[in-house]
Amino acid sequence: MTPVVLDTRSLLDKINKILSKTKITSVFIGWNKDSDLSDIVQYLKRNGAEIYLWLPVFSELDSLVDFSPLIIGQGREKAEISFSIGTEESFLFYCPSSNIEKIISIYERYYNSDIYDGVFLDKIRYPSFIGGIQTVISCYCDYCMAGYDFPEPGMLLSANAANPLGIVSYKDLHYRLDEGFEKLFDRKCDVIYHSLENLCTYFRGKGMKIGFDLFAPFLAYFVGQDYSRILGLADFVKPMFYGMTNAPAGMPFEIDMYAKAFDDDSGNFEKRKKSFMDIVGCGDDFIGKEITGIKRIIDSNAYQTKLYAGIELNYIERIAPVTKEYIRESVTKISKCDGVVASWDLNTISDSHIDCFLESI
Ligand SMILES: [Zn+2]
Repeated sequence: MTPVVLDTRSLLDKINKILSKTKITSVFIGWNKDSDLSDIVQYLKRNGAEIYLWLPVFSELDSLVDFSPLIIGQGREKAEISFSIGTEESFLFYCPSSNIEKIISIYERYYNSDIYDGVFLDKIRYPSFIGGIQTVISCYCDYCMAGYDFPEPGMLLSANAANPLGIVSYKDLHYRLDEGFEKLFDRKCDVIYHSLENLCTYFRGKGMKIGFDLFAPFLAYFVGQDYSRILGLADFVKPMFYGMTNAPAGMPFEIDMYAKAFDDDSGNFEKRKKSFMDIVGCGDDFIGKEITGIKRIIDSNAYQTKLYAGIELNYIERIAPVTKEYIRESVTKISKCDGVVASWDLNTISDSHIDCFLESI
């Protein structure tokens, strides 16, 4: 594991470089409770930026409190997903419905500070296909399943190896699939929505603004994020349009994880991947269509939500081998958004990639 070292001098230089070309509206500061960034915070505030606490919600905080686990299937096993990308980031998820009070208590104990104008909620989801289909068929705890007649996991899988979820269509950011799976994912979307509603009520009560870190819409449904509803809860959303990230939320990565989740047969992997991409309509202007879909939901509901595209600017060997050409292409693809989130984080983005980004916008 590589410990993260914050270089505050270099951070300030990067901030100044960006400010010389464009405006910084918001800055998300991570949840390391020992870091002191007060000088940078004051400098950013003087330059008009709002400061958000970057808070991972249903993953990452387990060192601070004992969370109720995610439960797989009616056998009531605890879900253990071990996935590491060699950084300090954890992808171990806990139950998204029964832990809300604990998340609020963590905020109150460790992060309640008037330096924050808002909270940027990350990991607001169930795990993706990285743990296989068995962890996707979750959470079977009493809270997630209260009053719900849920099919046995074994009954869900379709015999169609190329399309085991029975995906029929993906249109206007909305999936139609096999009835059993549609019930499962709709339920997961309900749970995430209600949990977010509760968290947002709490943070709004403290006068804070709210941003969401979201999977790209075509992946979001499978982790319980229903754009048509959750867009209305946030001041802004940041869909992760990560085309180069070989880790959770990376778009090609998550398609591969879906295709691998059901069996080890490599022939099925190729068929499944092709079938998924054909139905979803992955092609040249795919990100543009996803953005149009989000905008349509915002406009038709008269939401005030801003859309800030997350694109990777950092370079991490094998995990995010981002190039300047990729940055230029990404900026073009997301030009209809209200802004860009320089992802994953300013600390690891090189000066040359910041220069390339600033020349491209
Ligand atoms: Zn649960």
